[in-house]
Parts: sequence; structure tokens; C-alpha cells
Amino acid sequence: MQLNQTAAEQLKKLTLIFFMTLAPSAALTQSTHQLVEVQRINPNILVELRYATTNNFTGNVIYKTARCFLQRPVAERLSRVQKKLEAQGYRLKIWDGYRPMSAQQILYDATPDDKKGYVADPKLISKHSRGAAVDLTLVDSAGGYIEMPTDFDAFVPAAAITYSKLSKAALKHRTILHDAMTSEGFLTVKGEWWHFNAPDWKDYEPLNIQFDELP
Ligand SMILES: [Zn+2]
Repeated sequence: MQLNQTAAEQLKKLTLIFFMTLAPSAALTQSTHQLVEVQRINPNILVELRYATTNNFTGNVIYKTARCFLQRPVAERLSRVQKKLEAQGYRLKIWDGYRPMSAQQILYDATPDDKKGYVADPKLISKHSRGAAVDLTLVDSAGGYIEMPTDFDAFVPAAAITYSKLSKAALKHRTILHDAMTSEGFLTVKGEWWHFNAPDWKDYEPLNIQFDELP
């Protein structure tokens, strides 16, 4: 009996250790999020939040503020990309970052049915709502326009990251942007050359904090 009990206790201990190694690390939640304004981390990154203007595919102002937020480790990763690009004579210009879940719903509802493949179904939860995805383009060191494959949110084949029927300049600039972003670990998505996910996006919970609730 004594032996059996010891064996049972040991099994219990081993089972506990096994499940502890399986448990995921605690994700950053609504109350423990680290959303920070990107320009506080690196003011050289330009921000032109399209959803804070009417210059977006919906034609409506979706955000009440033009401030761009990301989770702090994601913003710091982006800052390292900016420094690399500066050395090459370029800068980043952000079109979108953190997107409250309520705004994701508005965007999804505004998307025509045949284009819905381009906008994450709110039920699937956009990585933008985790503060772990960013939409951006490349500009010159003075912030001036340079040729890229398409404009933001262009629901066309040329938005794909492998699309090759582009001008030499557009191809070159897309390559420079992608090389710089992926060198710091950002992940690309097939259909949108301007969209990048942080590699640790799973560490952040989807949030519905509104911009005016953020410091
Ligand atoms: Zn995006």
C-alpha cells in the first residue's frame, strides 16, 4: 500500500509538471495591455491614419483621433526598422496600427461582399485589434511620396506581395520595405503588401479600448 501511494503521488506530481509546461504564457489583456503611441517610441516614424480621415475605402471617418498605437514591444521592433531605413534614405509612414474591435466591425460591414476576403471577419479577430499588426508604406527621408505597388486598401491583384507586373521603382521600393520589416521579424501576408504582423502577435489579446481611453 505504501509503495502504491508513493507511486500515485509521483504520478500526480509528474502530471502537474506536464500540464504546467503545456500552459501558455499569460497573454496581455485588456487590463495589462502595453499600447503605446508609436511616435513616443520613435518620432521619426510618420503617421497618416487613413481611418481618421475620409481618405479610406469607406469614405467615412472611422477613428476620432489620428494617433497610432501599438503594443510597446511591437513599436520598439518597428523603431528598429525605421533606423535601418533611415540609413538607406527612407522612412516609414503608418496608415493603420491598433484598431479597436468595434472599429473592425464597422470596416467589415462597410466592405462590399466580393471584397470581404481583404478585411478580417471580426469573428476571426484582426491582429490589428491585438495591437500587433501595422499597415505602412515607404516614403523618402523628407516624408515625400515614392512609388509603391498600390495605394492603401487597394482591393486589387497588384496588392499581392508576389505581384510582379509593376514598374521597376515600385518593385524596388516594395523589396526595400519588406527586407527591412522581415529583418526585424515582422511577418508578411500574401494579399496586402502594406500589412505586417508582429511575430509574437499571439501574446496579445484582442482589445476594444477606444482611442480616447488611451494616454
Ligand atoms: Zn492591416
